[in-house]
Amino acid sequence: MKMLLANAEAWPGFDTTVDLLKQGGAGIDAMVSGIARVEREAKVRSVGYGGWPNMLGEMEFDAGVMDGTTRDVGAVGAVPATLPVSALAHEVMKHLPHVMLTGAGARRFASERGFALDEVLHPDSKRVWWERLQKEMSPEQLAAFPDIALAPLSNAITDPERVRDTTVFLGRDGGDNLGVVTSTSGWAWKYPGRLGDSPIPGAGFYADSRYGAAACTHTGEMTMRCGTSRSIVLALRLGHSLADAVELAVQELSELKTGFLAGVVIHAMDAKGNHQVVNYRCDDEIRYWYWDERMAAPELRVATAIQP
Ligand code: ASP
Repeated sequence: MKMLLANAEAWPGFDTTVDLLKQGGAGIDAMVSGIARVEREAKVRSVGYGGWPNMLGEMEFDAGVMDGTTRDVGAVGAVPATLPVSALAHEVMKHLPHVMLTGAGARRFASERGFALDEVLHPDSKRVWWERLQKEMSPEQLAAFPDIALAPLSNAITDPERVRDTTVFLGRDGGDNLGVVTSTSGWAWKYPGRLGDSPIPGAGFYADSRYGAAACTHTGEMTMRCGTSRSIVLALRLGHSLADAVELAVQELSELKTGFLAGVVIHAMDAKGNHQVVNYRCDDEIRYWYWDERMAAPELRVATAIQP
C-alpha cells in the first residue's frame, strides 16, 4: 500500500509527493521533490529559506535520505548557501562512496553537482537573530562581536521562544519500498558547526523496507544519545508491534536525566501499513500529515501526546 507520513511543516510539498507516488514514482524521488518545495517556502519558519541561522547569523542546513530497501544513505550537515539540501543528500547517496558530507566539503560537492550558490538568510530571520543575540551580550561583547567566546551566550540556544522543527517525510511506494527524507536549519542560534539528528542515520531517521521506518523532530540532542529511529526499526525486526517499538523508544528517552532535555516527536510506520506519531513532552499540540492510497485526500491529524 502506498503511504506518506510527514510533519505539519510539510504542507508546501506533501501533495507533490502524493501525486508522484500515485503516478508510480519511486518513493525517495517523490519525497525529495516534495521536500524541496518545503525548503524553498519562506513561510515554513524552521526549514530551508524560512529557517533560523546559527549564533553568527549564518544559515547551516542539515538533511538526510535513506532508502529502506538497499539501506543506502546520503546525508549533509552544516551546509552553507545551498537549497534544497535534501536533494544534495540524495546526490551524496547516488554519486559518492560516502554517507555524509559537512560544511565546506558539502558546498564544494554541491557546486560539482550543479547547485547554485544561494542567498539563504531570510531578512526577517536576520532581524530576529540580531535582536535576540543583543539581549545576551554585554556592551563589551557587543563591541567585539563576533570575535568573542560564543559558549557563554548559550542561553539563547536553549530559549524555547523559537520553535525547533525539521521536515520529515516517511513514505512507501508501489514497490513496497520504504524510505525517509529529512531537512532542517536546525536549532535557532545553534553553536556554529553543530549538527542535529536530522542528518544522522539511526538518530533522526532510519528505514528498512522489511520492517518499518522512523524519523524524529525537535530535540536532536536526545535522539542522538538514544539512537531513537534505529531503536524503533530494530524493535520491529525483533517482532514488537509498532506501538511497543515506539513505547520502548519513548522509555529510552525518558531514562535520560542529564544534559539538555526537552520535547521529541517520533514519526513511525511499519511494513504492515500501520503508522504512529507521538509527541513526547512538547507543550504544544503537534500535528502531522498522513495519506495512504485508500484515502481520497491527505489529512492533518493530531499526534498522541505523552508527558514524562
Ligand atoms: N531535530 C532537529 C535538530 O535537532 C531540529 C528539530 O527538529 O526541531 O536539529
